[in-house]
Amino acid sequence: MRTSLLQSVALLVLICSTSGVGAQRAPLPADRAAIVQGIEAKRSTYADIAKQIWGFAEVGYQEQKSSALLQSQLRAAAFAVTAGVAEIPTAFVATYGSGKPVIGIVGEFDALPGLSQDLASSRKPLVAEAPGHGCGHNLLGTGSLAAAIALKEWLASSGRAGTLRYFGTPAEEGGSGKVYMVRAGLFADVDAVVSWHPGDRNEASPSSTLANITGKFRFRGVASHAAAAPEKGRSALDAVEAMDYMVNMMREHVPQETRIHYIITRGGAAPNVVPDFAEAYYYARQPDMRILDSVWERIVNAAKGAALGTGTTMELEITGAVYNVLPNEYLSGIMHQHLEEVGGFTYTPDEQKFAEEIRATLTEPPTVALGSQEKVQAMRIGATGSASTDLADVSWNVPTVQVNGATFVPGVPAHSWQATACAGGSIGVKGMMVAAKSMALTAADLFSEPSHIQKARAEFDRRRGAGFVYKTRLADRKPALDYRK
Ligand SMILES: [Zn+2]
Repeated sequence: MRTSLLQSVALLVLICSTSGVGAQRAPLPADRAAIVQGIEAKRSTYADIAKQIWGFAEVGYQEQKSSALLQSQLRAAAFAVTAGVAEIPTAFVATYGSGKPVIGIVGEFDALPGLSQDLASSRKPLVAEAPGHGCGHNLLGTGSLAAAIALKEWLASSGRAGTLRYFGTPAEEGGSGKVYMVRAGLFADVDAVVSWHPGDRNEASPSSTLANITGKFRFRGVASHAAAAPEKGRSALDAVEAMDYMVNMMREHVPQETRIHYIITRGGAAPNVVPDFAEAYYYARQPDMRILDSVWERIVNAAKGAALGTGTTMELEITGAVYNVLPNEYLSGIMHQHLEEVGGFTYTPDEQKFAEEIRATLTEPPTVALGSQEKVQAMRIGATGSASTDLADVSWNVPTVQVNGATFVPGVPAHSWQATACAGGSIGVKGMMVAAKSMALTAADLFSEPSHIQKARAEFDRRRGAGFVYKTRLADRKPALDYRK
């Protein structure tokens, strides 16, 4: 199974390596061509929805307008919508059809703090320090919507059995929304999940990500006059600094691929008042969840030691915990084939000018060539990205496949103002349409051919290993609904 899969994947890479716009391909069967045309026919509608969500720019668990807009579109398309699932007001599940198989499509819609940006090629926040869609999740939710509606129309016209579910998943950025949805059993009967993510290229590689644990360390001390009575004070900020110092020394003694980052969210109000409250917000990441567990334990110990040494107390709130993505080469092979059929796209002269200007603002010279949006990247096997996603927890419970659409100008990293600028404009929409069509064609295959799900499941079981039991590091914590407040 593994050998033949790898051989076929290798063959696919040879055949499909970075083919460009207009490459010769066999025509799609009529029903599949209708799916693509159905999405294309509503391009301006989807562009408008994506732009509205971009404008809302709502952060994790605060996405009321974005969630409501997507829900209303799904209701209008005859999906049955259940909102407020998994104790999360902005989470929802929209269902169409009945029976097996059950195919899930995932849509995200949260923005990032501080990345507000106009549709401009220089730094220009729409609202100073306000959130912005620097990860393109306005496109993510909308592209998935487009795929879901096209599939629903295809299911309805073909009279085929099967259940389609659109999962409206809030707070991907550090809130672990999907983890709570998995924990609530919402994915329990799903046979396969299809998703995508905005990126700076068109690619369907079966890559993994870093597992990630996040938490807020809160220290409490004793306030006093910093000059008149310092001996009476116990500084909570001292505790934060002592913790950070210990963790920064620890960096030398953790496995190479580990990532640790923090910010100080509260550090006192005035230099002449010894702070009685301070808070550090930490992320720790690792390709292996078990190694991450031990790194995290050492970080917590540093916090405990800092509290002991500064005469303060410490309490920890875990705000998120996600696994590394469990890739599925078999499903990625299907997605890659359809991405090839859909192909890349060209820029208009205005878009080309914008792209050149945006690239000129990047700190590092971009390693991805301008023009790569016209192509589909060759499949890379065994790659691990250094980001994290809560889709990972879905992927350890249901065979899951993802595709990237070139929504960002090549070389533009996610979580940047440049990405926000791309996600709100026509380049973002073009990348979104590539992903929507590829996802819909992939899901149609999964509905049509039961052996696809069997093969994906066999690979999934093999990768998880015998005796694997999924267990979220969030344990029974309630969703941290105010983690962005
Ligand atoms: Zn993202």
